[in-house]
Amino acid sequence: MSNDKNIRSLAILGYHKIGPPSPGGWESWYYVPAATFLSQLRWLCDQGWQFISAAALLRGLDEPASLPERAALVTFDDGYRSTLTVALPCLRQFDCPAALFLPTDFIGGSNTFDQGMEPTEPICNWDDLRVLERNGVSVQSHTASHRWLSQLDVATQTDELRRSKAVLEAGLNKRIELLSYPYGDAATDIAAVRRAGYRAAFLFSGDGRVNRGPVTDMYRMPRIAMGPDTDLKAFLEQR
Ligand SMILES: [Zn+2]
Repeated sequence: MSNDKNIRSLAILGYHKIGPPSPGGWESWYYVPAATFLSQLRWLCDQGWQFISAAALLRGLDEPASLPERAALVTFDDGYRSTLTVALPCLRQFDCPAALFLPTDFIGGSNTFDQGMEPTEPICNWDDLRVLERNGVSVQSHTASHRWLSQLDVATQTDELRRSKAVLEAGLNKRIELLSYPYGDAATDIAAVRRAGYRAAFLFSGDGRVNRGPVTDMYRMPRIAMGPDTDLKAFLEQR
């Protein structure tokens, strides 16, 4: 007999864009309609999952017993303005904190790193980021230029990691301790990430899973890739 019931579960959900594409854009898998997002949050609540903040996650890495038995962290990559205009009102309905990872070279600009692959979308400016911070969305690093870290030489990787952390720390007057790898780049050298001062980092892939028990690899934390058709129930119930 397993005693799965007593093992703590940590689900980290990885979203990109909530709501419809901007005018002139097109639908892609990375857009989750607001109604779908709301129903995913509602389902988690109904199943007894408790939303945690980035700060609670960081504490939980040191003290696993501080986390609820079923903890869920909602994350957004790239820092789209729709996180503020569409996702935040949804999050507030559930008192749900979240984390947002953005590449600092694009603050107040758009996702030119995605050119030709995804529609152009505005990325939050500093005022937007401060509003998100005040409303429970913790802003964290997604490097500076949104390139595959594993394809860069060590000096450039270090610059990407340190520069984005320093820019966010100066702009938001807080410590930046979390990183999400652009493209979920699992081949990144974690020694460089640790040296740059991050305490944990997140992957992003279709085979993401729920973490059961204490987190053993803080620099390769799996996330569930969230799209409009993600079968959240299947992910959360798999053993
Ligand atoms: Zn990204």
